[in-house]
Amino acid sequence: MNQKTLRPLKLKSDILDDNKLIQHATQRFDADGDDHIMTSIETPMLPDAFVLTDDEKIHKISHHFGQIMDILGLDRADDSLSGTPHRVAKMYVKEIFSGLNPANKPDIKLFDNKYKYNEMLIEKDITFYSNCEHHFVPIIGKAHIAYISTGKVIGLSKLNRIVQHYALRPQVQERLTIQIAEEIKSAVQSEHVAVVIDAVHLCVSSRGIKDNSSSTITSYYSGSFEDEALKSRFLRHI
Ligand SMILES: [Zn+2]
Repeated sequence: MNQKTLRPLKLKSDILDDNKLIQHATQRFDADGDDHIMTSIETPMLPDAFVLTDDEKIHKISHHFGQIMDILGLDRADDSLSGTPHRVAKMYVKEIFSGLNPANKPDIKLFDNKYKYNEMLIEKDITFYSNCEHHFVPIIGKAHIAYISTGKVIGLSKLNRIVQHYALRPQVQERLTIQIAEEIKSAVQSEHVAVVIDAVHLCVSSRGIKDNSSSTITSYYSGSFEDEALKSRFLRHI
C-alpha cells in the first residue's frame, strides 16, 4: 500500500519540506521575474484562450480579483472598494490586455507607393503603455519605427496602432519589439524594418531594485537596416 495514504496528518518533516519548496519557489520566481526571462516570441497562450466571451471573462476575473482583495484584508463593503473587482476585470479584458485577442488586431490597408518614395520612412516617439508579464505592473515607453517600401505603404496611424496592439498584452520588452517588427514586415510586405524601443519598467523602478533613473532599450533591424550606414542614419533621426 502507498505509504502516503496512511498519513492522516502532515508530519513535521513534510511541513519543513513544504516550507523549503515555498522558499525555493519564491527564490526562483523572484529571480526569474527580476531577470525578465523571455521564453518565446509568441505570447504563450492556452489553446482555449478565446472560448469564453469577454463578458464571461470579466465576470470570472471580477470574482477572483475580489478574492485577492479579501485575502489582502480589504473591506469590499466600503463604497470606494466595492466596484474595484469589476473595474479591474473590465480594464484587463477591454483595455490593457485587449491585445491578447487576435480579433482586436488592427485592420491594415495597403496603398500603392505612388510617390515612388524609396527612402526610409520613420515614425518616432510612439508612446505606449504595456505591462510586465512577470509582475503585472506598467512598462511605459516610446517606440521608433522605420521601414523602406518595396511598392506598398500603410497609413501612418497604422504604425501606432500596431505598437498599441502588441503593447496591450502582458509583455517582455524583447518580445514586444520582435512582435511589432514582424507585424510591420508582414503588413508592409517589406523586409526592411527597424524598431527601437526605449522603456521604463515600473517593476524595476517602483519595487525590487527601485532604480528610477534607468530605462531599457531594445532594437530590431532587418533587411537593409542590417547595414551599419543605414542603421546609424536611422539612429541619428530618432
Ligand atoms: Zn517585471
